[in-house]
Amino acid sequence: MNSASKIYDPLYRWFEANKRVLPWRETSDPYKIWVSEIILQQTRVQQGLEYYMRFVERFPDVATMARATEDEVLRLWQGLGYYTRARNMYKGAQMIAERWGGVFPTTFDDIRAIPGVGEYTAGAIASFAYDLPYPALDGNVYRVLARLNDCDVVFDTTAGKKHFHSLAQRMLDEVHPRLFNSAIMELGALQCVPREPDCTACPLRHYCLAYAHHMVEVLPVRKPRPVVQDRELNYAIYLCPQTNEQGQKVVYTLLRQRTEKDIWHHLWEFPQQETSAPSAQRELTFTHLLSHRRLHATFRVYPVTSLPAIPDTIAVAWTALDDYALSRLTLRALQALQ
Ligand code: SF4
Repeated sequence: MNSASKIYDPLYRWFEANKRVLPWRETSDPYKIWVSEIILQQTRVQQGLEYYMRFVERFPDVATMARATEDEVLRLWQGLGYYTRARNMYKGAQMIAERWGGVFPTTFDDIRAIPGVGEYTAGAIASFAYDLPYPALDGNVYRVLARLNDCDVVFDTTAGKKHFHSLAQRMLDEVHPRLFNSAIMELGALQCVPREPDCTACPLRHYCLAYAHHMVEVLPVRKPRPVVQDRELNYAIYLCPQTNEQGQKVVYTLLRQRTEKDIWHHLWEFPQQETSAPSAQRELTFTHLLSHRRLHATFRVYPVTSLPAIPDTIAVAWTALDDYALSRLTLRALQALQ
């Protein structure tokens, strides 16, 4: 028994009484747990739930996902943002199919080798699927550990992560790692919340050093946020009615696939020019927030009788736009237009 074992009983009792029923908690299928963890990396549970159901219905196992195209996976991902996650998931499915014959790996190191799987995700899959004794530190767990131990080490640096990782390893219930990780995560999500947690109702208040030392509100300590970069994007939406081979009227527009590695790599959008100053003539405008960027986007509609020749664009029927993995900003503009 380690020195943290005194928290196990009250923590587990609280978890049994308060845990949310979530489909990825009801399974020990490593593939489904992997899908849920990738979706939840930067997505709230409520929104993630919908996408998770969609993904496991369309791709019930890793082999089905590996056989799909990247575009199909991206289309299903549409609206979740941070598309690198979807791309890595697709790459991961192919790697599992090729390297392990479609059988999900069973050791921490092999799981960690899957693209897009970091220390946290590998720990989560290893413990949730196989009950292996690895900690899984997400934002909620960092907060609970910092407070329980009254630890003011900056947690989101390489050194800080190492520090908290060894703290978590020491506190882990090696007999029930799956239960311990699930319970501590849920405590962080529901009880030990970032602002004004109700410590008087917390099952761990008698063991919590931050509560005893009145340090709850200042923990955990994170490094200062990077400065947000502003960018001005000017989009042109061409609308060109034409008659197709069947004699039907079809409206065509132009799309281009982003090849720049900065944002929305490989996704499709209307032709665009980036400027340093805001556009003088604003029509359909949005401010769109990404992690460290604030995008100011202007969409202008141009009815034309023939589509202009813009390099790297393709003509697409307006009704076929759904067949392309569009950036979230482009989707917002389309919704507003419709
Ligand atoms: S007592 Fe308060 S700060 Fe400590 S673990 Fe519980 S909710 Fe978090």
